[in-house]
Amino acid sequence: MITEVGTDIFKAKTLLESGSLVSIPTETVYGLAANAFHSEAIEKIYVVKNRPRFNPLILHVRDKNNIKSYVQEIPEKIQRLIDIHSPGPVTFLLPKSSLVSDLVTAGSNQVAIRIPNHPLTLDLLSKLSFPLVAPSANISGFVSPTSAEHCMQGLFGKIPYVLDGGLCNIGLESTIVGYDFEDNQVLIHRLGGLSIEEIEKTVEEEVKISIQHSHPNTPGQLKSHYATKTPLKVSKTTSMISQFGSKNIVVINLFQKIDGFQGCQFVLSVNNSISEAAQNLFSVLRLADDEKADLILVELAPNYGLGPAINDRLQRAEHHHL
Ligand code: AMP
Ligand code: MG
Repeated sequence: MITEVGTDIFKAKTLLESGSLVSIPTETVYGLAANAFHSEAIEKIYVVKNRPRFNPLILHVRDKNNIKSYVQEIPEKIQRLIDIHSPGPVTFLLPKSSLVSDLVTAGSNQVAIRIPNHPLTLDLLSKLSFPLVAPSANISGFVSPTSAEHCMQGLFGKIPYVLDGGLCNIGLESTIVGYDFEDNQVLIHRLGGLSIEEIEKTVEEEVKISIQHSHPNTPGQLKSHYATKTPLKVSKTTSMISQFGSKNIVVINLFQKIDGFQGCQFVLSVNNSISEAAQNLFSVLRLADDEKADLILVELAPNYGLGPAINDRLQRAEHHHL
């Protein structure tokens, strides 16, 4: 199969209607989309990505009314998050309605649902008579794609079309937010593109982080995920350089280069912006991987804004090689 890249949403629409897969741009990362009502199309996602069957998919819908039809109820605090942050980099995990197939949720009675904030994909969704399921458009376990070119690197020859929407604005997967119906509390199941501070500001209380690395239904939370092929270590880069300086290393810094280090080094944001660092993270990880070094050393991000989500991805990549 030849994979084409372009901006033709009518082509994307026709392919999706016929049960083919299309890679679609979102503000978080590129998704590998299928018609959510087409079981053979959903099956293709698992085959193409080599995704474990127990790893459920995120349902992508075009507007807030659509969310209502695919869940049983929306608690008030979640409704507030939907009203303020959707479309946006946040996914809601709620009890599913009967319209959602078990194939989407991998047998769970909860569905993960979100409205992606990308003009091309919103336009596409508005022209379709069905919602899309779309996990990240990478081979399972590898770094998620944040450009059409990244999608081609992993999926060339395996899908017919990549809808090119440019670079992803956020660059990290969505934050997955659930709800504890007993305690009436918002839970964060996966850190991501919407910061903890933004969520707490919206619900006007502290939220609980509930990331269970071993839960079989939520492998997006598995400890080793999002990995580079090259082993990676996360800590203070200056001290790691003294420790591993004899190896062939690549260094990824947050805001500035390390003076006096002659080897290959990257900076995630020269503007001291943690959001820009998040946006560049996956493409820089790929570039660092391409150096085929012995080791990638990455600076830990500060604990505010998207910093914890960046660190989460880095620590999972690190764990993959332990
Ligand atoms: P990806 O889009 O590749 O980030 O994968 C989607 C991720 O969303 C999964 O790996 C899970 O962590 C999470 N997810 C999706 N649906 C569910 C669900 N029904 N229950 C729990 N987690 C889910
Ligand atoms: Mg993924």
